[in-house]
Amino acid sequence: MSRIHALETLVVNKIAAGEVVERPGSVVKELLENSVDALASRVEVDIGEGGSELIRVADDGEGIHPDDLPLAVTSHATSKIRGADDLFRVRTMGFRGEALASIASISRLRLRSRQAGADSGCEVSVDGGQVGPVQPCGCSVGTVTEVRSLFFNTPVRRKFLRSVATEFGHISEHFTRIALACPRLAAVLRHNERIVYELPPTEQILDRLRLFFGSDLADRLIWVESQTDQARLWGYVGHPSESRSTRKGQFLFLNGRWIQDRSLQHALGEAYRGLLMTGRYPVAFLFLELSPDQVDVNIHPTKAEVRFRDAQSLYRQLLSTLRTRFLTADLESTVSVPAGLQVAAQPPAVDPNRQLGLQLELAAWAKDRLAQWTPPTTFPGDSSLTPSGHELGNEEFGSIGAEIIRADRELHSAATGFGLPDNGEFNTGGFAPGPAASSLPGNQGASPGTGSPAKQIMQVHDCYLVVETDEGITVIDQHALHERVMYEHLRRRVIEGAVESQKTLVPQPLEFGPREASALLENKDLLTQLGYGVEEFGGTTVLLAAYPAMLAQADHSRILADIADQLAAAGQKPSRRDILDSLLHLMACKAAVKAGQRLKPEEMESLLAQRHLIDDAHHCPHGRPTALVLTRTELDRQFGRLG
Ligand code: ADP
Ligand code: MG
Repeated sequence: MSRIHALETLVVNKIAAGEVVERPGSVVKELLENSVDALASRVEVDIGEGGSELIRVADDGEGIHPDDLPLAVTSHATSKIRGADDLFRVRTMGFRGEALASIASISRLRLRSRQAGADSGCEVSVDGGQVGPVQPCGCSVGTVTEVRSLFFNTPVRRKFLRSVATEFGHISEHFTRIALACPRLAAVLRHNERIVYELPPTEQILDRLRLFFGSDLADRLIWVESQTDQARLWGYVGHPSESRSTRKGQFLFLNGRWIQDRSLQHALGEAYRGLLMTGRYPVAFLFLELSPDQVDVNIHPTKAEVRFRDAQSLYRQLLSTLRTRFLTADLESTVSVPAGLQVAAQPPAVDPNRQLGLQLELAAWAKDRLAQWTPPTTFPGDSSLTPSGHELGNEEFGSIGAEIIRADRELHSAATGFGLPDNGEFNTGGFAPGPAASSLPGNQGASPGTGSPAKQIMQVHDCYLVVETDEGITVIDQHALHERVMYEHLRRRVIEGAVESQKTLVPQPLEFGPREASALLENKDLLTQLGYGVEEFGGTTVLLAAYPAMLAQADHSRILADIADQLAAAGQKPSRRDILDSLLHLMACKAAVKAGQRLKPEEMESLLAQRHLIDDAHHCPHGRPTALVLTRTELDRQFGRLG
């Protein structure tokens, strides 16, 4: 008796569904991609209960002919490719003809469609893979795909669904990716009948970035672009001060498709090397355009990973485009746009002066950081980094390194040429210890050189200061100590009612959420005590009119955003003193030097000199110790020197 038999279509589809439909979010992705392929100009997505009850995508695309309806839900039936050759000419999101059949095998699916010119629409229903008859129905031009009771006949999968909020989070992520890839597509997302996003069509990707990620981020993005024989790369990358603790702020699109690529992710990380603290990731929205025959998108059922024909040169292109951007003071290119770009690659709609300011700030800041940066001598040889299996030879990478060193050098001269501060001060968008230190009372005697020169100070791991003392050695947490110093100083000033306030040249508009904006305005006098002057501007915009003089270099929009969060969260009215105290902690923490920040010898000395000015030098305002003492006796005991 033969043992091998062909599987029934239903089973085949269920198996395929296992690959394509991981969770409700995957269904949303597939349906949205079908709408994009159908050249829709508008999509509406309705979700019920995180997608487990309902996923409905309605578009105004070209629709499906009634005769094709049963085929649309049949596996390996597609209108997008014909032969194997077409696999390397794919310009559509779909081509496998698998999605609808897979989804229909594990849900109750209804597909309604009407083409332009047809009198009415037609629909077909599929219940757990059982295809019903095609019937006429009323509907507008376009297609409505409705998926109910996902995983109803695969109980194990259904059981593995996470909370409604988590599943909706995934849906929202897929929606965001498509919305960023297709800014001209008007898109609505509703959850349990409430609108979550309503996106008008736009020619500017920046409009979408602003809607999804807020104006603060959008205004600090840096435009990048480059063109090689093979590929065009364009998009926006985040100012280094906008780093994240995960890669969630990184979006890469290939020919309009969101993809994940470890090699290019790595290149992005390399581009920011020396600009970010370890464990921080840059924000980036990058778009790659290359001829479809340069890439195989058919290596993964969800097509989230692709294989490039020449992964190495893309790696190099991304790295050098960004590095050059960071290093040059060529400001023209921030705002100039070559003719004939695709619509989505429109010039950034930002104020050129603002871009100029940003660029100067960045160049000044990067200058110091990059001086310490040495290009890697080896490429991460891990072949899994390049899906193509190609590895970049050291030789080849060596030349990138050389290129970057050259660019670094150019930056130094360029930066000086622009009259950037050449006094070695670095500005992390937070607070540099030098100016902070020198503004502290009684600090005059603490200038470099007047401290005790005999005592050694060493910074280790860019985080701790190790100091030789009469008692033995002291290890100091640089952030904790500076935070404490700042806190004590601010507190004293607040108590004395003497916080010096610096007026902004022009009131600076800052955007907040509605709750946060009103919390700030309701607590205006409290903020005045802290040295902040805020004014109402209308809507959710607040004008920053003054800031504490000693926090001249701090990022006030961030500090105020955190203060607003605290004020908005403080449910029942806490005492004024408590609020003030917690705001002082917050400001001190924001303004203090961070762990991971390299300090110059004079900055270390200045910081240490102020240790003696504060009431409790041993703990930061959060109560963590600022210093550990290892006595000479203890050292001698450990080394067996005590008799
Ligand atoms: P694929 O997208 O890979 O071709 P699908 O299973 O997603 O496979 O869809 C099968 C076919 O159904 C598509 O090739 C397309 O012809 C048709 N189709 C699906 N959704 C739509 C839609 N929203 N508008 C027009 N046609 C659609
Ligand atoms: Mg499809």
